[in-house]
Amino acid sequence: MNLFEKVKALISARTVISDYGVKISKNEMACCPFHNDKHPSMKVTDDHYHCFGCGSHGDVISFVARLKGLSNYDAACEIIREYSLPIETEHSIKDKERKKFLKNKSQESYVTSVKKQFYGWVNEKVHELRDCEELIAETKEYILRTDPGVALNSNRFAYMLQKESTIGYWLHILCMGDDADKRSLFLEEREEVNRIAANIKRAGNEILGSSRKCVG
Ligand SMILES: [Zn+2]
Repeated sequence: MNLFEKVKALISARTVISDYGVKISKNEMACCPFHNDKHPSMKVTDDHYHCFGCGSHGDVISFVARLKGLSNYDAACEIIREYSLPIETEHSIKDKERKKFLKNKSQESYVTSVKKQFYGWVNEKVHELRDCEELIAETKEYILRTDPGVALNSNRFAYMLQKESTIGYWLHILCMGDDADKRSLFLEEREEVNRIAANIKRAGNEILGSSRKCVG
């Protein structure tokens, strides 16, 4: 079936012609809208119309086309739209493609924003973990220089030493690893990395701060 046949199979000429404002009597007669018709001279059936006055004749599509000054194709599309007929037209296909395109676009921009977040995180953590390494080194040196006893008694310092190799391992992945390694670190251990980096900073600053206070 072509487009016109599909439309005609789904809706009767009588329904559409009547909906477009032509009053149809019980004996299927109506005043013809295509000539100055005083007495009903157009016969309207389920599948066609015929005017005995002016001779205009056609189906539901040519009726709408003539009434609205449209091509048959545009008239068919108008009927499909007006009655929400389940028929695909170039318009509805284009519409579908447009929606699909927009959906893809929004998925794309979502992926872009996750990527941005990922690379931003990698950058940020490289700096933060390097700071942690420096802080651990500084703390070690400080303790050795001022009060080696802290190294034996401080839980905080023990924590820093315990995490030192983990920090080094993460830094290695973030600086030298391939994208898959970085991604899995980001996806699976992001919270852990953030948490431990924050703990190291706090522990280091507390030790350096309190040692400074004790010395000062
Ligand atoms: Zn007529």
